[in-house]
Amino acid sequence: MTTKTALITGITGQDGSLLAHYLISKSYKIIAPTRDNPDKSNLELLGIDDKENINFLVYSQWSDFEAIISQHKPTEIYHLAAMSHVGQSHENPQKVFDVNCNWTLELLSYTLQHSPQSRFFFASSCEIYRNDIAHPVTEEDEKKPNNPYGISKLSAHQMVNYYRQVKGLYACNGVLFNHESELRPNSFVSKKICSHVARIVKHGGEPLTLGNIEAKKDWGYAPDYVKYIYSILQQPHAHNYNVSTSELHSVKDMVDAAFSALNYPISWQGKGINAQAINAKGDIVVSINEKYFRPLDNRFLCGDNSKIKAICQDFSQTPFNQWVKSMTTHEWNLLD
Ligand code: GDP
Repeated sequence: MTTKTALITGITGQDGSLLAHYLISKSYKIIAPTRDNPDKSNLELLGIDDKENINFLVYSQWSDFEAIISQHKPTEIYHLAAMSHVGQSHENPQKVFDVNCNWTLELLSYTLQHSPQSRFFFASSCEIYRNDIAHPVTEEDEKKPNNPYGISKLSAHQMVNYYRQVKGLYACNGVLFNHESELRPNSFVSKKICSHVARIVKHGGEPLTLGNIEAKKDWGYAPDYVKYIYSILQQPHAHNYNVSTSELHSVKDMVDAAFSALNYPISWQGKGINAQAINAKGDIVVSINEKYFRPLDNRFLCGDNSKIKAICQDFSQTPFNQWVKSMTTHEWNLLD
């Protein structure tokens, strides 16, 4: 049996590390271009930072990928590198578009030119969909992003379609809905909630301050999602797939699940920006601050996942309460 090779862009991020971990368990060799001196903390946490299956290569500019693809001709290319924060994308739309769209286009063109037999995965995003669709969105539903992040992802998504439909590349979009794990950076609300809840339960101190706690997301567990991503490239034909749970949970649900994971009772009072949660002693443990509210927040988008469910041989979905508990316990264990 020949060894498969996978090029992963963004290997040091949450999804890149988890995907590398999963592919190594399937005996893949990983090609991992990174900037000089990458932060390998996620890979370390998973125990794969010095695995010989990972061939770390240093690139200094994006055009270096031409030589990398031409030389290695990977079986599969997983393009995960991106500027990934929706809220922060409002501050620098030009940079976000360059990284998320133009770099994707370059990779597609290098692949077609030098390794057209490679299978190409692009990490598209649920932010591409119209945000007021009441039913769970399918892959065919209307695309209408309302922030620079979503706009950049949709342009890249359409380029992937073009390279598949017109140029004949095996190129797929995985439309990723929010997905969290112990490896999430602090800027995401899941990490913020789980780390502050662990700190409050263990040491007390300042309340957790949040924005819109009524915002609902189709939230999944990233270790599940890398299995689905892998499946997308194992099909006889290339397609686009939603990668989602088809379930909605609110930010408030996540706060409840995190406190409950540590057996710490809280109760809610008030509404809107006056909402707050108190503990059994009556101390405020969660409060609201308008500065964390988003312009044009994508509040109730849910993804129909029947297409990915049908093709993924290894489909299992970790329940919401279970992964929030796992993240909160992880944060608890990190504290002194
Ligand atoms: P995003 O959906 O990719 O932007 O992921 P986030 O984890 O940053 O945000 C998820 C949801 O949580 C959004 O609808 C936010 O408006 C909402 N949210 C509520 N309070 C906060 C907060 O304090 N920080 C962040 N990051 N999001 C918050």
